[in-house]
Amino acid sequence: MPRPIQATIHTEALRHNLGRVRRAAPDARVWAIVKANAYGHGIERVFEGLRGADGFALLDLEEARRVRALGWRGPILLLEGVFELRDLELCSRLDLWHTVHCDEQIDMLATHKTNVPHRVFLKMNTGMNRLGFTPQRYRAAWTRLNALPQVDEISLMTHFSDADGAPGVAAQMAVFAEVTRDLPGERTLNNSAATLRHNVTPLDAGAHPDSRVASDWVRPGIAVYGSAPDFPEHSAADWDLQPAMTLTSKIIATQDLATGATVGYGSTFVADKPLRIGVVACGYADGYPRSCSTGTPVLVKGIRTRMVGRVSMDMLAVDLTPLADAGVGAGFGSEVTLWGRATNGAVLSIDEVARAAGTVGYELMCALAPRVPVLVTD
Ligand SMILES: *Cc1c(COP(=O)(O)O)cnc(C)c1O
Repeated sequence: MPRPIQATIHTEALRHNLGRVRRAAPDARVWAIVKANAYGHGIERVFEGLRGADGFALLDLEEARRVRALGWRGPILLLEGVFELRDLELCSRLDLWHTVHCDEQIDMLATHKTNVPHRVFLKMNTGMNRLGFTPQRYRAAWTRLNALPQVDEISLMTHFSDADGAPGVAAQMAVFAEVTRDLPGERTLNNSAATLRHNVTPLDAGAHPDSRVASDWVRPGIAVYGSAPDFPEHSAADWDLQPAMTLTSKIIATQDLATGATVGYGSTFVADKPLRIGVVACGYADGYPRSCSTGTPVLVKGIRTRMVGRVSMDMLAVDLTPLADAGVGAGFGSEVTLWGRATNGAVLSIDEVARAAGTVGYELMCALAPRVPVLVTD
């Protein structure tokens, strides 16, 4: 029998979450963001669940090739655009749309030989200060692009730094609205947080032409994978999102601890009363964060309990007291849900585990280790 760790990708949850995003932005088309190998889920594994999207957006040309290899004929957008001239040939060949965020990319386009002009997304830096032309230089970039025979349609794009928090999107949206006011082309602004929290419909945009811009395309990533972009203010359940990934393992040993006994490396956990623990076949080499410590939530047989001690490379320990209290025996072979959905239907959000690790759900899903076998279910 293989080591009992297993990740499961839930196709129906992906479909549900995509539908949830559509309800939040009913007038927009939806890019399903599948960068970073679909946030660690696997592009090929999520494709069935996300094929109802209007397009796929990602960063890596090799990943774009994989999406085409799955038979996807619709739009694919490169969110960082091209990195060298050669990449433009692949854009022509695979019909990829690409972001243009700097002068060097315009220079490359100007020397690119193609029969079919490219659809490009011109990115404005409205305050994130990562990629994009400043508001002052944006229109010059647009004019330059517009003059190139290599360019077909120009769409307009920006990215929010604070859609998940108190600052919100108003200031960045106002800058974008002001600079792009009379430019033609489709707009794409919203990530998951902006789509769920700050969606603007074309009707609203009409009412406030100075400061509000409707996304013709929204760009949800984390939401389609079933994690809340603004946890803990809202949970995934608050947003009606379902976990697209479950990480499960089993108890492979139990230990009965006397008062004063310790658990794991560094003896960081000390039993303050007699305690039964289960040892789980999951460690940091599986992608479970080592920064989780005593108290991190975990489900055993779908019942919530806590991790105890340090996470080691291949194992971690859990407190079995709540199971005994619930009259549920747990021993060798019992199901352990590190995050996602247990067999009894109980859900432990990846966001809660991430918080215990001092990070976000994004990082945990992206870090699922290659050694973990992955199963795709309905
Ligand atoms: C990753 C990314 C997104 C998706 O962000 P989420 O917070 O996962 O929804 C959207 N737009 C761009 C440019 C990105 O890089």
